[in-house]
Amino acid sequence: MSLVKKRMFTPGPTPVLPEAVLSMAAPILNHRKEDFKRLFRECVEMLKTVYKTKTDPIILTASGSGAMEAAVTNLLSSGDKALVVVGGKFGERWEELCRAYGLEVVRIALEWGESVDPKDIGRHLERDAAIKAVFIQATESSTGAANDIAELGRVVSRFPNTVLVVDAITGLGCAPIHTDEWNLDVVVGGSQKAFMLPPGLAFLSVSPKAWERVKVNKQPRFYFDLLKEQKEQQSGQTSFTPAISLVQGLHAALRYISEIGVDGLVANAAFQAQATRAAAQAMGLKLVARRPSNALTAVYNPEGIEGSKIIGEMNRQFGLIMSGGQGKLKGKIFRVAHLGYFDFCDTLSALGCLEIVLHQLGHPLTLGAGTQAAMQAYLAKR
Ligand SMILES: *Cc1c(COP(=O)(O)O)cnc(C)c1O
Repeated sequence: MSLVKKRMFTPGPTPVLPEAVLSMAAPILNHRKEDFKRLFRECVEMLKTVYKTKTDPIILTASGSGAMEAAVTNLLSSGDKALVVVGGKFGERWEELCRAYGLEVVRIALEWGESVDPKDIGRHLERDAAIKAVFIQATESSTGAANDIAELGRVVSRFPNTVLVVDAITGLGCAPIHTDEWNLDVVVGGSQKAFMLPPGLAFLSVSPKAWERVKVNKQPRFYFDLLKEQKEQQSGQTSFTPAISLVQGLHAALRYISEIGVDGLVANAAFQAQATRAAAQAMGLKLVARRPSNALTAVYNPEGIEGSKIIGEMNRQFGLIMSGGQGKLKGKIFRVAHLGYFDFCDTLSALGCLEIVLHQLGHPLTLGAGTQAAMQAYLAKR
């Protein structure tokens, strides 16, 4: 044993809120009894504030991809046409999901690290009236790139037969998301990101326009039948046994978010990201994303240093757990998270440790240049 604390800096799972840990350790409730129903309904009400919507979001027992699948199967049927933005690993997931259910996929392929031009989406929809849905990420977590969801909402809402489906699993709680005001038809979230919980719960909002589609959609579905869930969840029930302990944790996490305000949670992630980018620049590092998100910062490894070395040393010496690249960026980048339960002390120490490791691995930098840039960002903010 050595006295090295483990510290989570991965963009999912993220550090779990202590209050949520305690709630999850409490004796389990029975999900068909009054106490649970009340707890569940309170979660739905608080989720509406996070989503900024008047319509009840649906809570599912699944990882985030489960809610993504629910969006696909409830909105579209085999043979329908979908426009999918693919700018990284999670855009690929939308595409794979759509193909698995026999949809016809029109693909907008981006360079990894790029964000979509909303005008491009508009042009596709004008050309092809058969496109029934647009699938996109608020933040493409494999590259750290953010998309302009507000503008996409404006563009897609002009087309009455097309719904906009946003994977906001690393958007909710780290980027501004105004579900109703921005006309976002489906917004998907997951518990292990800015919600500061372990994985196992997924959320999705469904707009009135999208509910109309769900009602007439013919695709068979069973576990993820949103109409059935909607009916049950109105009274604090779920179709199947939910991850009860996680719902207990969710209640605590949402109470915490209500206290600081969802805008406060977003502003916190935005600041950690800003300080990290300032430090990265001062360390002579290059970012992967052209339009970087608040959720995480993805950084190219310096020339000649293999990515797994950086991540390995951060873990070995400092117990600091970061993510590497996925798919075609494997071994080329490392990713530092800001979403959820992170404060400046976390960020500053991670950046300091990163400077040490980069120095040891031979990257030419002035020790302290990165942390100094982060400190200056902090002082400028006060
Ligand atoms: C984490 C993540 C997911 C969800 O993945 P699961 O492992 O199914 O929870 C989906 N999209 C994005 C953008 C993510 O960051």
